Amino acid sequence: TKRVFSFSEGNAGMKDLLGGKGANLAEMTRAGLPVPPGFTITTEACHSYFRMGSRLPEELLHQMDMAMDQLEVESGRQFGDPTTPLLVSVRSGSVTSMPGMMDTILNLGLNDETVAGLAALTNNERFAYDCYRRLVQMFGNVVFGIESYHFEQLLHRLKAEEKVQQDQDVSAQGWQRLIEQYKKCLTEEAGRPFPQDVREQLHLAVEAVFKSWNNHRAQVYRKINRIPDHQGTAVNVQSMVFGNMGNDCGTGVVFTRNPSTGENVLFGEYLINAQGEDVVAGIRTPMAITSLQIEMPEIYDQLAHSAQKLERHYKDMQDIEFTVEKGKLFFLQTRNGKRSAQAALKIAVDLVQEQILSKTESLKRIEVSHLDQLLHRGLDEAAVQQVVAVGLPASPGAAVGQLVFDADTAVEWSKAGRQVILARPETTPEDIHGLLASEGVVTSRGGLTSHAAVVARGMGKPCVCGCESILIIPEEKVLVSGERRIAEGAWITLDGASGRVIEGKIPLKEAEMTEELTAMLRWADDVRTLQVFANADNPHDAKIARQFGAQGIGLCRTEHMFFSPVRLPIVQQMILADSKEDRLRALQKLLPMQQSDFEGMFREMDGLPVTIRLLDPPLHEFLPKREELQQKLTRLIYDEQDSGKEQLELRRLIRKVDSLHEVNPMLGHRGCRLGIVYPEIYDMQIEAIFRAASRVIDEGCSVIPEIMIPLVGHTNELKILRELVDTVAEQVLGTAKKRNCPYKVGTMIEVPRAALTARQIAAHADFFSFGTNDLTQMTFGYSRDDAENKFLAHYIDHKLLPHNPFQVLDTDGVGQLIELAITAGKNVKRSLKNGICGEHGGDKDSIFYCHQIGLDYVSCSPYRIPLARIAAAQACI
Ligand code: PEP
Ligand code: MG
Repeated sequence: TKRVFSFSEGNAGMKDLLGGKGANLAEMTRAGLPVPPGFTITTEACHSYFRMGSRLPEELLHQMDMAMDQLEVESGRQFGDPTTPLLVSVRSGSVTSMPGMMDTILNLGLNDETVAGLAALTNNERFAYDCYRRLVQMFGNVVFGIESYHFEQLLHRLKAEEKVQQDQDVSAQGWQRLIEQYKKCLTEEAGRPFPQDVREQLHLAVEAVFKSWNNHRAQVYRKINRIPDHQGTAVNVQSMVFGNMGNDCGTGVVFTRNPSTGENVLFGEYLINAQGEDVVAGIRTPMAITSLQIEMPEIYDQLAHSAQKLERHYKDMQDIEFTVEKGKLFFLQTRNGKRSAQAALKIAVDLVQEQILSKTESLKRIEVSHLDQLLHRGLDEAAVQQVVAVGLPASPGAAVGQLVFDADTAVEWSKAGRQVILARPETTPEDIHGLLASEGVVTSRGGLTSHAAVVARGMGKPCVCGCESILIIPEEKVLVSGERRIAEGAWITLDGASGRVIEGKIPLKEAEMTEELTAMLRWADDVRTLQVFANADNPHDAKIARQFGAQGIGLCRTEHMFFSPVRLPIVQQMILADSKEDRLRALQKLLPMQQSDFEGMFREMDGLPVTIRLLDPPLHEFLPKREELQQKLTRLIYDEQDSGKEQLELRRLIRKVDSLHEVNPMLGHRGCRLGIVYPEIYDMQIEAIFRAASRVIDEGCSVIPEIMIPLVGHTNELKILRELVDTVAEQVLGTAKKRNCPYKVGTMIEVPRAALTARQIAAHADFFSFGTNDLTQMTFGYSRDDAENKFLAHYIDHKLLPHNPFQVLDTDGVGQLIELAITAGKNVKRSLKNGICGEHGGDKDSIFYCHQIGLDYVSCSPYRIPLARIAAAQACI
C-alpha cells in the first residue's frame, strides 16, 4: 500500500487519506503557490500503526526513506548532513480540523553537528542555536511527555542571568548553555538522551503524532464536535522555512475575512522575527496584519492577492498560515476558517451576492446549531457601570457568571448549577473542558487567533482575550486591575462583541434579527416544504414566535396559564371542591381569565392556526407538596394562638393530596383521562376558546382554533371528547358564526397504543400532533424526568445509544410508530394534517427526519424557529 504521498501527488479531494492539512497543502502546491516541499503520511498508516500494537510498519519506514530522499533533491539539502542540513517540521493533520488539539515538532534534523552547519549556512549562530533549543524542548515535551515548566524554568533563569526580557535578546552562548541544560533535563526526566540520529528523531516524532490522536484533549474535542474516533490522523513532514532569521523574516496567520464579524477585509496577525507557534501560542502579542502593509508592502500585496485566489478556489473563507524567510513569502497551510455564527451568516450571504455561491449552496453552509448563538444576548447597556478592562473582541455574545481561575473548578461549579466565567492568563488545549463548562472566557495574553479565541468561537461562547491591562493570577485566584482585586466567586460580565470585561452581574438582552439572517431565512422559505409552527403559551410568546416567522401555534399548553399567583389558588379551589357545584363555581372564575389569554393569542396570530391543548398534567402538580403541608401543620400544633380552624383546613388539604397521590403519576390520571372523568374542566376550557374566538372574529380577525386532546390511547376517548367540543362550539357560536370559525379537533399521538390504532383514531381526528416527549418516554419506558441523571448519560458515554433520545428523535423505534400512524391515518382520511410538537421539533436531525417522512409541520420554541426554518430548507437540498 502507498502510505506516503509527496505534496505534488495529492489534491484537495483526498482529505480522508491525507487529512485536511495534507490535502490542502497538495492542492496549494498544484495551484502553484509557494509551499515548502514535503510529504504526507496517510491516515491509513495511522490505523496500521495502532493495529500493529503501536509499531511503525517496515514498509512505511521504507516509503518514508524514499520520500526523504526526494525531499533532499527538492530542497537541495541533506537530512543529517553537517554542512547542508535539511530541517523538517512534523505536524498532525486530521480529516476534520481540530485546531491545537494534537502535536507538532519543528526544526527536526538538528543535532550537535548539524546545528553548527546551520549556523555556518545562515551565517547566524544565535539563530541556529535558538532553533536547536526549541527542538530539544518540543521533542522532550511531545515525544517524552516532559512538562513544559521544566524547560521554562531553565529559560527563565537564563534570561535573568543575561539580564534580558525577550527571547530574541538571548546570546548564542546563552542558547548553547541552555541546550546542554535541556539535554540533561531530558535525560533525567525521560531516562534516555536526546537522539542525535536524525532518522530516529523522525521516527519518534511520527509515532508521537499518531499517539496524540488519543490524548485527552483530542478525545474531548472529538466528543464535543461529534468527530468519529476512527478517523485517525495523517502526518505532514515539510521542509522548514524560517521566520526567525532576522528582521526581514516573520510569520503570521490571516483570515480572508474577519472571522468575528464576517466583514470582507483581510484580517490577521503576524510577528516579525518569530517562528510559527509563537503567534498561535499567544506568548508574544502579535501585530495587526494592516501594519504589514507598511513594514513589508510587497509581501503584503502578494499575500492579499494569493489569499483572495485561495478563497475563490475553495469558495469559502480561508485561514492561512504564512512565513516570510529573508523577504520571500511561503504558505504553510490553508483551511476553511472557523468563524462566529454572525460571521458565518454574513459570509454565506456575501458569497451569494459576490456570485461565488448559489443560494442553495449558501443555505447548506449554515451550521444551524450556531444560529442559536445569534439569536441570543447582548448587554443591557444602561446597566453597564464598572468596566474593568477592554481586551480583544474574540467571540461575540455576552456572558455573566462567577469568576473561576482554572478549568477543573469551572467544571465542578457548573455541575453544581452555577454559571462561571473562566479567567486564565492564556488557555491551552488542556483547558478545553473548562471552556466547555463556562459561560465565557477571558484571557490576559494572546491575540484573536490564540487558542482561547479559536476554540471559543467554535463553541459559540463569548470570549475576550489579550486583556493586557489586567493581571490574572491563577495561583492566588485573583484578577488584578489597577488597585482592584477581584477574587474567585465574584460576578463578572463579558461582552465578546466589544471586548469589555465588566464587574458585576449585568442584565442581558436577547438579540434581534439581522439583515443577513432575514435574507437567509427568505431563501430558506422559498425552498422548504415543511411548515414551522411555535410552541407558545401566552400572547407575548406568540408575538415573538410570529416575529421569528412562525406559521401558526403548534402547541399551547393551557396548564401554563394556571400557574400564575392569582390563578393558582382558584385552580386549587377547583381541585379541592367536594361537590360538582363547588367545582363549577371555581371554574366559572377561571373562565374569563382563560378567555382573555386566548383572545390575546388569536389576535397575535390573526389568520394563522392556533393549536390549543386541553389540560394535561396530573392534578397534584397544582397542589402544595405533602411534606410542606405536614411541616406547616406541626408548626400550627405547637403554636398556642391557633384556634384549630386552620389545623382542620390543613388536615383536609393533606387528605386531598393523599387521595390524589399516584405511584406513577406520568402514567396516571392525566391528559384526556381528566377530561373524561371531570368533563366540566374541559367544558370550561372549550367554552373559553370559543368565546374568545367569537370576540376576536367580531374585531375583524381571522381565527383558526385547533383544539387538541392530549394523551389519547383509545379511540373512544377522542370520540367522546370530540362530541363535547362540537356541542360547546354549537352552543357558544351558534350555527351562523360557526361558519366563520373553521375550527379543527385533533389529538396528540403520545401513547404507543394511539400510534398502533391510528386507523380507528383518525376517524375522529382532523389532525395528529406527535407529542414525541411522551411518546419517547413510553416507547423506551424511560422516565423523561429522571432518565438523564440516572442512567442515560452512562448509556450515551458508553455508546449504547447514539444520542439522547429526548433530544434527537429515535428514528428506529419511536420513528417507526410515527410512520405507521401517518400511513394508517392518511389511509382513512386523506386530509389528515400531521405535525410534531415535542422538543424534537427544534432539533436539526429530527427536523430532517420529519421532512423525509412527510410531516406537514414541526412546532418548536419561538427562539428556535429561525433554526427550524433553515434546517427544513436544508432537508430539501
Ligand atoms: C409531548 O409529550 O411531546 C408534548 C409536547 O407534551 P408535554 O411535553 O407537555 O407532555
Ligand atoms: Mg405530552
